[in-house]
Amino acid sequence: MKITGIYYSGKSSAALSSALILHAENRVSINQTDIYLSLDELDIAPRIGNGNRWVYFPDGSSFESQDNDALDTLSKRQRNHGLSLHLLESKLRYIISSLIFTLIFCVCFFIWGVPATTQLIAQTLPDNTSKLLGSQSLEIVDRTLFEPSELSDEKQQTLQTLFKPYLSPDQRVLIRSSEALGANAIALPNGILIFTDELINITTEQELLAVLGHELGHVEHKHGLQALIRSSLLLFVYTLITGDAAGASSSIAALPTLLLEQGYSRDFEREADDYAMDFLKQHNIPRTALMGALNKIYQAHEIDKKESLRDYLSSHPAPKERLERLTTVE
Ligand SMILES: [Zn+2]
Repeated sequence: MKITGIYYSGKSSAALSSALILHAENRVSINQTDIYLSLDELDIAPRIGNGNRWVYFPDGSSFESQDNDALDTLSKRQRNHGLSLHLLESKLRYIISSLIFTLIFCVCFFIWGVPATTQLIAQTLPDNTSKLLGSQSLEIVDRTLFEPSELSDEKQQTLQTLFKPYLSPDQRVLIRSSEALGANAIALPNGILIFTDELINITTEQELLAVLGHELGHVEHKHGLQALIRSSLLLFVYTLITGDAAGASSSIAALPTLLLEQGYSRDFEREADDYAMDFLKQHNIPRTALMGALNKIYQAHEIDKKESLRDYLSSHPAPKERLERLTTVE
């Protein structure tokens, strides 16, 4: 068998018009060169359409030919001819690696992409978006989660006086009773903080200030807004995938409550805790007050766990980890 083509030595750019010849016992030679080797040592490139095809030799030289059919025959005669196997293998590898890539991409997107996107959106949204969202969420949570405070006017006034020096003009503390939340405090996106009677009844003033610092951390880092955007973003993706726009739009109406039920992510809690620790240090309040408050809150929820509809522990995850971390904060 003789296949005409061009030989490149790989040492110079010179192209040599030549021919590849198949001899007995599957030996191969190239005319006008000293190449003489076993067919199995050849690396015959796969066929791509009707383009020129390459054969590579171990010494780095190569041979180019248009005779695809002859090269196919040659390739089939190779002992390691596993063209189909090779193809399948490379395809399988391709499929598996694209699967892995897709998986990694999705995981990365949800771990870093979604938070980064929401943070960016939250930081760039105009301030009155937070105000609007906040006043809407207040309406909804007042309707669904809170009842009026049962504390005396005098007690409430004392607390307002306690909190006032630490609040900026657009921040406000509201006091409510909540069977659903029990001892708890929440921050709405517009800087409104809500403390429950149940929390106030079990904590000292210093501990309340520590909780205030924590909630101010949520406000400062725009966690409420980010959580809202995050749920909307996921709903948006969900709508894109399923086309279930009705489901998505009805869920958007329930977002503020959804947010309260699910609480914040661990990262948000960590950020708020760090903010609280700085806050306490800055105002010369013992930082143990935060741990004291957390301990009391966890205990309170441990006791009335069965009665509490929404468990503080589920909205504020990993209490132990959180407390342990705080003891190591300098
Ligand atoms: Zn929190």
